Amino acid sequence: MHPDDALALHFQLNAGQKKALEKLKLRSVRDLLYHFPSRYSDLSVVKLVRDLVPGDRAVVYGRIKSVKVGKAFRKKMPLGQAVLEDVTGTIKIVWFNQPYLAKMFAAGSYVKVSGKVASGSSGIYLGNPEIEHTEGQTDGAGDSLFRKDEVHGAASLYPVYPESRGITSRFFYHTIGKALKGGVLEKIEENIPQTILKKYNLPTLTTALVWLHAPRKEAEAVAARKRFAFEEVFFIQLVEQKKRLEYEAHKTFAIAPEQRAVDQFLERFPFSPTKAQRHAITEIFKDFASGKPMLRLLEGDVGSGKTLVAALAAYATVMTKPKGQDFGRLEVAYMAPTEILAKQHFASFMEYFKGLGVQIGLITGSGCKKFPSKVSPGGATDISKNQLLKWVANGEIPILIGTHALIQKGIQFKNLALAIIDEQHRFGTKQRGALGTKGRSGMPAPHLLSMTATPIPRTLALTIYGNLDLTLLDEMPPGRKQIKTEIVLPGKREHVYQKVRDELAAGRQAYVICPRINEPDPTKELALMAKSAKAEAVRLDKEVFPEYRIAVLHGKMKDSEKEETMEAFARHEIDILVSTSLVEVGVNVPNATVIIIEGAERFGLAQLHQLRGRVIRSTYQAYCFLFSETKNAKSLERLKAIEKAKNGFELAELDLMLRGAGELGGEKQWGLSDLAMEAMRNLKMVEAARAEAHALISADPELMSVPKLKTALSSRVKPIHFE
Ligand code: ADP
Ligand code: MG
Repeated sequence: MHPDDALALHFQLNAGQKKALEKLKLRSVRDLLYHFPSRYSDLSVVKLVRDLVPGDRAVVYGRIKSVKVGKAFRKKMPLGQAVLEDVTGTIKIVWFNQPYLAKMFAAGSYVKVSGKVASGSSGIYLGNPEIEHTEGQTDGAGDSLFRKDEVHGAASLYPVYPESRGITSRFFYHTIGKALKGGVLEKIEENIPQTILKKYNLPTLTTALVWLHAPRKEAEAVAARKRFAFEEVFFIQLVEQKKRLEYEAHKTFAIAPEQRAVDQFLERFPFSPTKAQRHAITEIFKDFASGKPMLRLLEGDVGSGKTLVAALAAYATVMTKPKGQDFGRLEVAYMAPTEILAKQHFASFMEYFKGLGVQIGLITGSGCKKFPSKVSPGGATDISKNQLLKWVANGEIPILIGTHALIQKGIQFKNLALAIIDEQHRFGTKQRGALGTKGRSGMPAPHLLSMTATPIPRTLALTIYGNLDLTLLDEMPPGRKQIKTEIVLPGKREHVYQKVRDELAAGRQAYVICPRINEPDPTKELALMAKSAKAEAVRLDKEVFPEYRIAVLHGKMKDSEKEETMEAFARHEIDILVSTSLVEVGVNVPNATVIIIEGAERFGLAQLHQLRGRVIRSTYQAYCFLFSETKNAKSLERLKAIEKAKNGFELAELDLMLRGAGELGGEKQWGLSDLAMEAMRNLKMVEAARAEAHALISADPELMSVPKLKTALSSRVKPIHFE
């Protein structure tokens, strides 16, 4: 068996299994080996039948004495039964709903059974246990049914694999077991350099595969998981560090602003910058002077004042003349994910650059504008796209702000020296990369400033944005009113609705956030019965706030409908906006002072914090009500952290630590496996992976000295989609 062999070559798969494997993208034996258990079933202990008591989790070795298939008493549930014997006695095995299992283990077979001991009307039994064939063993005298190599009292761990339609954990357990025994391990080559494995005390690939899928003790599983987590993070870092090195190899523009001019520009703002803003500006100016193109991520809570930092960077850029020229300006492209945001930035920049003689352009799907206008110098005029593109190409519009429209074909700057991406996580990697290429070909590469309001833990930022340097804006401008946050348990809604009524009566507005778009499917389990935005909007309209204007907003709506709704809310034509978490990033409506979050326990803490950020800009006292029906103490503890944490970053770190394994949801959000997400709790490991990758890539950018690593990187199970 070779790791690259197709699964179908070695295993008999039914149609359902084939489909499920295809869906999970598990095609080769290697893919299968990289399908990791999500957890291990309770520690079971190898026991003798005589010693079994109800409630035990145990592993028992023995021989099947008899088998019977039938229906459960009264109910019509198919039932399989067997009697297991060892030298100390017999116990019944019962398979509810899985009678076929009984057929697979004929009388006389030797088996290993693992499960929970239950007690019924006719004595104790093992209910729906794991079972597998073992070799028959006797002690020579012929009366022992135990394998010699099994020690009674030893612990045994069973891997549990994520299941999906058509495929069970049991299937993975057995198939992977066969693969491991089928000689595939001999053909698997180590991909991480030995020196690194030694340095961090990580098991080799083959050892780790065995320890992961068939651990004899917990420590083995832990060590194996650590190795694969390191592998994933290390691989991502290799890709990221290579990108970084490649970008840094470009020439760039030297930007060296005069301190006096910068101070003067700052005086144009009606406030002085926070310490965090000053620090960010200093770091950016250092990058500008370094001779290498900047690659920096500015992370700051909603309202922390990222626009000011962007404006300073833009100012420093446009005040610099292109090399060898004593006229003209270096140029800035500033991209935002929505038209509303782009327009907001344009309006802010008109204010900041008033009277400085700097032309500013706006380009969105619905048209182009230029500031200052010849007719009214304080305002902007509409201009045609063609005209704008011409001016931009000639270098006559040094600051161009826009949406995705900025990266369309036909836009080319003369001396693009700074590319700013606002809410960068809202763009795909391609789109982000595209902005940097809008200069003329053959020109130096622009400095890159990415901004985001998603506070993520430091480890995660270092990993998924591994090619960027990180600056935090971890301080809010002074004078903000603290939002009053309250966790509301079931039955306490009415006082909240009264509070909302008071606020609406005073002319304010409110958000209601729901975890789902549509009514839940009633056949689904209770856990999915979260409130839906659509149904809740109807209910609030009919039963709670009939006198107010209510609208709904969710991700399935057309972009134009979404924007219309948001704008109507901003114009106060809507009093209550019922929405999915979509509203997380988007308009800022200073008049909105209340946010209610339904099913709050379903959201990540960082997400709740961001949702709450929707009402942070208010000059009025703002309120956040977290509705929760959870009875889970851990969930409540998480929600309470929201009241406690000082800022989004602290909260993101808390969130990471408080969530259980498998709840981290890295796959969907960040493209990281659960395993790697767990590794995000380990700053040392993440830093080690980053440092090793950096050292390796710097010394050997093409990985010529480590061909196996290079192959593994290009053909890994889950390709890494980071550019
Ligand atoms: P974000 O980081 O969410 O993009 P903004 O840049 O939009 O935040 O700033 C939010 C608000 O705070 C704006 O109204 C801005 O003018 C104001 N602001 C920014 N910096 C300061 C400061 N240092 N002091 C007071 N207000 C500030
Ligand atoms: Mg912003």
